Amino acid sequence: MHDLAIIGAGPAGSTLALVCAANGLDTVLVDARPTDLPARADTRNYAVVRGSWHLLESAVVTARIDRADIQPLNGLEATDGSHGFGAPSVLFSAADIPPGGGDGNTLGWMIEAETLQTALDAAVAEETRLKRLRPALFENYEPVEGGVSIALQNGRVIEARLLAGCDGVNSPVRTAAGIGVEGREYGKSVFAANVALDRPHDGIARQLFTPEGPFATLPLTGDRANLAWYMKSGAAEALARRTAEEIEAELNHRFADFAGRMRLDGPVSAYPLRLQIARDMIAGRVALVGDAAHRINPLAGQGLNLGFKDVAVLAELASQAVRCGLDPGAANQLEDYRRKRRFDDTLTALGMDAIDRLYSNENPVLKPLRGLALGAADRLPWLRGALASQASATRSGLPGLMKPGDRAGN
Ligand SMILES: Cc1cc2nc3c(=O)[nH]c(=O)nc-3n(C[C@H](O)[C@H](O)[C@H](O)COP(=O)(O)OP(=O)(O)OC[C@H]3O[C@@H](n4cnc5c(N)ncnc54)[C@H](O)[C@@H]3O)c2cc1C
Repeated sequence: MHDLAIIGAGPAGSTLALVCAANGLDTVLVDARPTDLPARADTRNYAVVRGSWHLLESAVVTARIDRADIQPLNGLEATDGSHGFGAPSVLFSAADIPPGGGDGNTLGWMIEAETLQTALDAAVAEETRLKRLRPALFENYEPVEGGVSIALQNGRVIEARLLAGCDGVNSPVRTAAGIGVEGREYGKSVFAANVALDRPHDGIARQLFTPEGPFATLPLTGDRANLAWYMKSGAAEALARRTAEEIEAELNHRFADFAGRMRLDGPVSAYPLRLQIARDMIAGRVALVGDAAHRINPLAGQGLNLGFKDVAVLAELASQAVRCGLDPGAANQLEDYRRKRRFDDTLTALGMDAIDRLYSNENPVLKPLRGLALGAADRLPWLRGALASQASATRSGLPGLMKPGDRAGN
């Protein structure tokens, strides 16, 4: 029987597998993707904050990422765009957080999803202590003495003491565990694209809050940006179907004064915005991790960073259990995992939801609050520091694996 079976080799599952295998857990990683399929190029970009970067260092993934392919994130700006494009009301940067960890002066790094997944796939392929089953599709599981028995679609059965569902927003593991979801459809979709800018972005992520929703540019290498434009459902999809010339004309007509002139650089996409939180993160011998446990509003790029915090906590608990000769899938271990992660996951998900509700409407009662929130952050250095440290994951209470130089999670 394995110590740990992980379903899903996306960013969360691959990182969990690498750290746990390196810490001596007998680990098997199952994924539906064929091995010869390269990571798919799409419009997805991750803001990987400092703590997440350290976790990837622990998993020996960052050494495989060429620094020329990633963009330092130097600061975050927000502008209330309900009356044109005024001066940005909030600006915080690495100067607001204590230095440390040899990261230079960055809040984190912008990484294209394909770059990260390619590095993870290579690290997983070379990790000889890790058993991989790919392509293989999880179907179901049932309890057995001291663990679970996992049925794959190809007829294969594996047994493990702990089953980690890292299988994304529609998580078959979550369904098999009988865990429902809460959430809401926003009635909005996100239009996403990478663009080349005609002015330097200086590594600053910029968000413009308009009554219909935010428009955000996240800095990429070579003065490119990943843009996310929140629109009513249907409008983003319709824009994504138009020609490149028509899309560029629309973007520049609406936002050139805010972002500079934009030229499309790669494919465009549109996807519906959804808040979804699993009703529980655990069931008997099962832990949900990453998007399987929470899909949040991508407003401040915190979705994957939350998933990485899940990974760090679960990896630490399971590693310590095995090191002490304990059962990593025991109920008390899983309850510890839930206790350490549930509050942060839910609070962050609801926080992003609240910001979206506050800024994305014309409600006259909420308008003064908007100014108050942005203005206060601008004036109070400690509040700016708190925002920056949340964004950069350097605050105290973080799992050891997210702190500089900790490979074992101590
Ligand atoms: C269109 C789109 C755009 C996005 N853009 C951004 C963005 O710009 N920035 C950002 O931070 N986040 C973005 N997100 C969210 C981000 O992609 C997720 O937060 C992140 O991918 C979650 O990682 P994960 O490892 O938890 O799950 P996933 O990346 O979803 O990985 C799940 C893995 O499970 C595997 N799997 C699923 N079912 C099975 C099964 N039955 N058996 C075996 N394996 C299975 C899949 O093959 C996959 O490899 C976007 C999401 C979408 C859908």
